[in-house]
Amino acid sequence: MKTNFSQYLEKQGKKLTELSNEEIYLALLDFVKELAAQKKKNTAKRKVYYISAEFLIGKLLSNNLINLGIYDEVKDELAAAGKSLTQVEDIEPEPSLGNGGLGRLASCFIDSMATLAINGEGVGLNYHCGLFKQVFRDHQQEAEANYWIEDDSWLIPTDISYDVPFKDFTLKSRLDRIDVLGYQQEHKNYLNLFDIDGLDYSLIKDGISFDKTEIKKNLTLFLYPDDSDKNGELLRIYQQYFMVSNAAQLLLDEALERGSNLHDLADYAYIQINDTHPSMVIPELIRLLTEKHDLAFDEAVSIVEKMVGYTNHTILAEALEKWPLAYLDEVVPHLVTIIKKLDALVRSKYTDSSVQIIDDDKRVHMAHMDIHFASSVNGVAALHTDILKNSELKSFYDIYPDKFNNKTNGITFRRWLEFANQDLAAYIKELIGQDYLHDAARLEDLLPFAEDAAVHSKLAAVKYQNKVALKRYLKDNQNIELDEHSIIDTQIKRFHEYKRQQMNALYVIHKYLAIKNGQLPKRKITLIFGGKAAPAYTIAQDIIHLILCLSELINKDPQVSPYLNVHLVENYNVTVAEKLIPATDISEQISLASKEASGTGNMKFMLNGALTLGTMDGANVEIAELVGSENIYTFGQDSDAIIDLYATGGYQSADYYENVPLIKEAVDFIVSDELVAIGSQERLNRLYNEIITKDWFMTLIDLEDYIAVKEQMLSDYEDQESWNKKVVHNIAKAGFFSSDRTIAQYNDEIWHSY
Ligand SMILES: *Cc1c(COP(=O)(O)O)cnc(C)c1O
Repeated sequence: MKTNFSQYLEKQGKKLTELSNEEIYLALLDFVKELAAQKKKNTAKRKVYYISAEFLIGKLLSNNLINLGIYDEVKDELAAAGKSLTQVEDIEPEPSLGNGGLGRLASCFIDSMATLAINGEGVGLNYHCGLFKQVFRDHQQEAEANYWIEDDSWLIPTDISYDVPFKDFTLKSRLDRIDVLGYQQEHKNYLNLFDIDGLDYSLIKDGISFDKTEIKKNLTLFLYPDDSDKNGELLRIYQQYFMVSNAAQLLLDEALERGSNLHDLADYAYIQINDTHPSMVIPELIRLLTEKHDLAFDEAVSIVEKMVGYTNHTILAEALEKWPLAYLDEVVPHLVTIIKKLDALVRSKYTDSSVQIIDDDKRVHMAHMDIHFASSVNGVAALHTDILKNSELKSFYDIYPDKFNNKTNGITFRRWLEFANQDLAAYIKELIGQDYLHDAARLEDLLPFAEDAAVHSKLAAVKYQNKVALKRYLKDNQNIELDEHSIIDTQIKRFHEYKRQQMNALYVIHKYLAIKNGQLPKRKITLIFGGKAAPAYTIAQDIIHLILCLSELINKDPQVSPYLNVHLVENYNVTVAEKLIPATDISEQISLASKEASGTGNMKFMLNGALTLGTMDGANVEIAELVGSENIYTFGQDSDAIIDLYATGGYQSADYYENVPLIKEAVDFIVSDELVAIGSQERLNRLYNEIITKDWFMTLIDLEDYIAVKEQMLSDYEDQESWNKKVVHNIAKAGFFSSDRTIAQYNDEIWHSY
């Protein structure tokens, strides 16, 4: 029997009008958890285990209310009692279990698996401090520990526990779960988060530094602990093995319980390895099958080969994990035995040294092990998969052409449209009804409205209201003054040179100098940046520093600030993304072509009616194909040209710096008196030198084109009719990027879980 929230409170003798926002939040948490507890688990025979080091799940209250179909009901009940659901949502801490796109993807995927009623669960670790909290001091990023777990949370303790054997000791795990509710689904799934007892917070010294050697007390303290020294690398190996050993033991227990005789294990389970962090699940499963369950090695290998898929997320060489065999030997010698056998198997078949698991320097290439022993290897956007096949992993593709396949990423529309942009979602329903909620492709029903002036003005009004809401949020939470009448141009993502925030910063400098010169834009432009930089990544920190200095210089200059503002929001996370994306006009997707595997931020913006300013990289290529060249702004060299330049060493940033005055002027300003007066000479100099002498990710190659296309875009904005026509096209074509589509493809083509 379904009760509404007020009745639920009444039974406990509580009245909504008398509760504080905190009390309402806690009551809603319990209410939703009770509703979720009543749902049964999905139970298809073959169960999918999506193993991932990260799940960037975001806050869950509103998402769960939407999936339960009671969001509006609860919102109205609260409103009737003079309360605001938005204020209650603010109370919830955002779980800090992920880093960026890869973790957010995993979260969209578990939402879609539940929505499609697939028996599929996430498996990961419950990091208590997760990813660091970013604060800015002195125009620099500082990292603080982010304790996100409160006494009452979405975590549900279980009595499931396994022994995980390391070389010198055995650690007992505990399993906490979070219920994963699909959109209007009777059944649910779980997110399984393994943890240890006995974590010791006092190991954390200042910021996020901590004693990395006390494994029994630190294993699940942080996500991606600093691995710039040996102890850091060892800790990551401990974490990864702990994650996959638990996952494998859980999988075996559950398969046995459902009737598997283990010879048929592959009929009962499929493991999707999300990037290389969970790769050790392959040898671990083989170890458990042979040592605990007495299967022959060859049979164990052939079973595992049928039930593992590997998703590649990057072509950046430094991001493909290669663990020294000696380190693995220090932590998990029992796996090294298996890995050596797998390596020998590969060597017996292939002499090509580029496909071996253990290389001549005795490093274990985790991705190579995955590719040899998985049934499926997938990239995450069409271009990315092509690059894997034709260059990055070509020697593997030659051996296993049938294993390679593409699964273009997607996002859950429940979070990124229904929740984040409620006014837009309501208007879409008014225009085309509700069908798109179950079949995102139906957004194309918006196309007949592309030229409708009334639709244009309503879309513009929704965008404006979202800017007003963002203004309030930024004022209250970040002390930022947003001009809601300006064009909002947003680049939010991890800070990395390949994503080229530095190129956008050079645009800012260019614009600043133009305004100083009297070339005033027709309409004010606000550039918003957001993102964290890995604490050990110096140049990324320098780019953050440059932007913070520019922000100070520009926003305080009375001659410039009426035309141009620059903001870098602090601690970019899912919550901040949900506020920024619906208010944005221009979506910056400017990675160096060939380097962004897919991107998912690009999809969120498109769905929310921002136009893309992007390179032909990752899923931008598919966005361009879907909307047509007249509805997207692309610029820059394409991936073939860039791959060629890397192969020939043909790029010299100095050629651009010295020969293009506009580029020289912008780059020189990094070390201008104005900026040095605000910031750190050391940081600014280092960045300047990096750009003119190395510039590994080719900032300058596309800068001129980028500036020209961005200026075109700003001028096109003035024709609101034509702009909003493009907006309609973008929203209408965004259906392809629903993670429901992606997950349906994974299931039909790889998992076969029915
Ligand atoms: C979507 C998302 C990302 C990924 O953004 P990209 O632009 O694809 O790199 C990273 N962080 C958060 C919080 C996100 O919501």
